[in-house]
Amino acid sequence: MAPVGSAHGYDYDLVVIGGGSGGLAAAKEAVLLGKKVAVLDFVEPSPRGTTWGLGGTCVNVGCIPKKLFHQAALLGESLHDAGCFGWNIPERKSITLDWPKLRESVQNHIKSVNWVLRVELRDKKVEYINAKGTLIDAHTVHAKLKNGTEKELKANHILLAMGGRPIYPDVPGALENCISSDDIFSLPEAPGKTLVIGAGYIGLECAGFLNEFGMDATVMVRSVVLRGFDQQMANLITEEMTSRGVKFLHKSVPVSMEKQADGKVKVTWKSLADNSVSSDVFDTILMATGRRPLTLEVRADQVGVKLDPQSHKVVSDRELTNVPSIFAVGDILQGKPELTPVAIQAGKLLAQRLYNNGKTEMDYDNVATTVFTPLEYGCCGLSEETAIERYGEDKIEVYHAFYKPTEFFVPQRSPARCYIKVVCLRNSPQKVLGMHYMGPQGGEVMQGYAAAIKMGLTMEVLMDTVGIHPTVSEEFTRLWITKRSGIDPTPQSCCS
Ligand code: FAD
Repeated sequence: MAPVGSAHGYDYDLVVIGGGSGGLAAAKEAVLLGKKVAVLDFVEPSPRGTTWGLGGTCVNVGCIPKKLFHQAALLGESLHDAGCFGWNIPERKSITLDWPKLRESVQNHIKSVNWVLRVELRDKKVEYINAKGTLIDAHTVHAKLKNGTEKELKANHILLAMGGRPIYPDVPGALENCISSDDIFSLPEAPGKTLVIGAGYIGLECAGFLNEFGMDATVMVRSVVLRGFDQQMANLITEEMTSRGVKFLHKSVPVSMEKQADGKVKVTWKSLADNSVSSDVFDTILMATGRRPLTLEVRADQVGVKLDPQSHKVVSDRELTNVPSIFAVGDILQGKPELTPVAIQAGKLLAQRLYNNGKTEMDYDNVATTVFTPLEYGCCGLSEETAIERYGEDKIEVYHAFYKPTEFFVPQRSPARCYIKVVCLRNSPQKVLGMHYMGPQGGEVMQGYAAAIKMGLTMEVLMDTVGIHPTVSEEFTRLWITKRSGIDPTPQSCCS
């Protein structure tokens, strides 16, 4: 469809700053609806100098390379299992990971995605400008192209979709000596003995695959593991990772980092529990202490966009900002899940509302997600503690069970942390508020249940659902033990 006339008098109907998950989704949808759209995308190199192509965090330094490294880790474990299932596999010790090969394969895949995205934009007639955008006023974006050329783009609507970048805390030596998730997937050589600072999902996932690759991995935790997630599940992940060999430095913060003559880094840290100071030497320090939104860099505050004073994220309602012509989606939004499908869905729906009289609002509740640690944790809805806080302990029922995946028996893998729980309202029909799953294929297991929760799943319906045997997902349909009952939730047999 050709762009419709511009009664508003601007050069573009929509200029998007940020060609990542949210920005590209909105741009493509707007063009399909006949709008004239430009997308500016520019990657500021990481402090280490890493840079990448079109597509944003998910494609280049987030979900995609992370999932592929996770897959590499799972394959290592499967090789061990395969021997138990009769495959002639060499001794596990002699099986090693070729990091440069892994890196190359993953980076080649990413480059192919960058290319496909560029072709898609060209075919769909979205004007892609490889330039850094900054706001001049409510309708004007300044673009600085890679070759130094500068231009101004006038637009009826501007969409902010710049995403975020890793935070480097103010610790002496941190900036010079640490890498982040922006760098790890393209490191030319294996990182070796690694200290991961931060125990959010990104830190845990990285420590998880490094440990599975046979590297020494330590996670430094300032307060709690997986803040914002169900804490019983977070503790199970910590136990599981510990049992696999990951070390945890709890209640600790880094004090300094110093490069040694041999290129390794000496890290000194303080225990918040007893103020003691310790140090150790690592090959690599991975900073994973959170991400900051790139709102100040585009001068969002200077054109009057309301930002949260602490996080500098955009305070928005339905992706609108307080400046009528400026909108925002994705990781830069205050209080919304920082996930790719969330950014995509919000971007598409916003374009539909702006240009097609769409009425559907983005539903940020009950978004399923998965922590891709070696044993995965998938969840959707409320944590047990949030449910109790919101409804009161008396009004909540929690069903739970440990279970044994069939595929764990032959290789004698430990099912000790394979656990599920459903948090629901206590009154019949027991509306489900949250589902939590720890085990293999967490992401695959949770997606369908997320749809069920969206449709108002109740515990009665779940118990009346016939499972698919033998799967791990069916365990949710077999739940009958409540925490309140005090009955032992460890499994009796697989098939009764
Ligand atoms: P982004 O995808 O970050 O895109 C923003 C783009 O804008 C970037 O290309 C940026 O360079 C560009 N930009 C910034 N400023 C400017 C400017 N001034 N001018 C021009 N361009 C600019 N999510 C999941 O759902 N599942 C996962 O498994 C998952 N794993 C992750 C693992 C890691 C290691 C990380 C870091 C993130 C992960 N995420 C995951 C989160 C996911 O990547 C983000 O939620 C998602 O990419 C956010 O999309 P966005 O559109 O807000 O921003």
